[in-house]
Amino acid sequence: MNARRKTTQVNVGGVWIGSDYPVRVQSMTNTDTADAEATAIQVAQLARAGSEIVRITVNNKAAAAAVPEIVQRLEDIGITVPLVGDFHYNGHVLLREYPETARLLAKYRINPGNVGTGASHDKNFATMVEVAKDFDKPVRIGVNWGSLDQQVLARMMDENSRLERPRAATDVMIDAMIVSALESARAAEELGLGHDKVLISAKVSSVPELWQVYRLLAAQCDYPLHLGLTEAGMGDKGVVASTAGLSVLLAEGIGDTIRVSITPEPGAPRRKEVEVAQQILQSLGLRQFAPQVTACPGCGRTTSTLFQELAQQIQGYIRDQMPEWKGRYPGVETLQVAVMGCIVNGPGESKHADIGISLPGTGEDPRAPVYQDGKLLTTLKGKDIVPEFKRLLDAYVERRYGQGVTRP
Ligand code: SF4
Repeated sequence: MNARRKTTQVNVGGVWIGSDYPVRVQSMTNTDTADAEATAIQVAQLARAGSEIVRITVNNKAAAAAVPEIVQRLEDIGITVPLVGDFHYNGHVLLREYPETARLLAKYRINPGNVGTGASHDKNFATMVEVAKDFDKPVRIGVNWGSLDQQVLARMMDENSRLERPRAATDVMIDAMIVSALESARAAEELGLGHDKVLISAKVSSVPELWQVYRLLAAQCDYPLHLGLTEAGMGDKGVVASTAGLSVLLAEGIGDTIRVSITPEPGAPRRKEVEVAQQILQSLGLRQFAPQVTACPGCGRTTSTLFQELAQQIQGYIRDQMPEWKGRYPGVETLQVAVMGCIVNGPGESKHADIGISLPGTGEDPRAPVYQDGKLLTTLKGKDIVPEFKRLLDAYVERRYGQGVTRP
């Protein structure tokens, strides 16, 4: 892991983003923002899942008008997560016409490719920056492969065509994204926005190109960077592509806030993108959100479903307890639990965890040794292995974290 790239620190509604702070998890709603009730419910779900900042689209007057009600509904249930307004095409109009919305949003996302063309581009962009200055808000200059500023791209393609050996079109597009982001950031600063009021993102849908664009961007500025693949996709593809894309950059010290843009399966909860983002950061050792459960994959030594069922029950129990544990036991997210399938690796792995159980494999004695802090604590037998292990787990958590005593 490389050291984190040094950046400015940006305050987004009380949540600081930058190299002095943990990499933040963001998410975005997919409700109609004009439906204040539905949007507030989803924002609350995302916030409760651990999203530290939530973005909502503000795409028309009805959406802009709904923001105060959304904020009020969230306040009524004790949710104070910063809301970011996502603006395209008409942000300059909406932010001026709905000053209360402009005041309540914690940050404005500006896509320089979607603020108009020619003279109106600069005028509209300047209007949004003026509003940000008026309300002391940061902005994210959010460039996107699919809506790249066509004036910048045309200019750079022309320049490229005049070269003796023109570069590949993809490389020119990547450079155009970086130029668009950095020229826009500079323009915002020339209009009077503070250097510490700007964040940047440059999203593409290809993993290698994501690495390319962010490495170049990281080398050319000290703005905090928001990482994410655009349109990562559905199901496993979206999760794997996002993990591959974000992990390499984070391991290089690049990235101060992330979003996993997966398309949820029909009916699946929106919070999945938050859980994946957290798991990426936790797997890299950058943050701890929940106890780490090490479970072996099972193999020919666990031919019955007993092991899978027990492992699933124990993992499910920990997940279900976490909302309460987090409040009662500070530091419980650092807990490490091992749930292993047989005696081959079970005892060894269990000894390395804070508390671990080695379940009986096929043909083994129906006994499950439990290790705590590296020592054999007891051996469970019979049908009540799982409830008894849960009791031991509860007692361990109470003893270790109930007094606020965390890992040495
Ligand atoms: S611990 Fe046992 S059951 Fe699990 S993968 Fe290893 S050998 Fe197989």
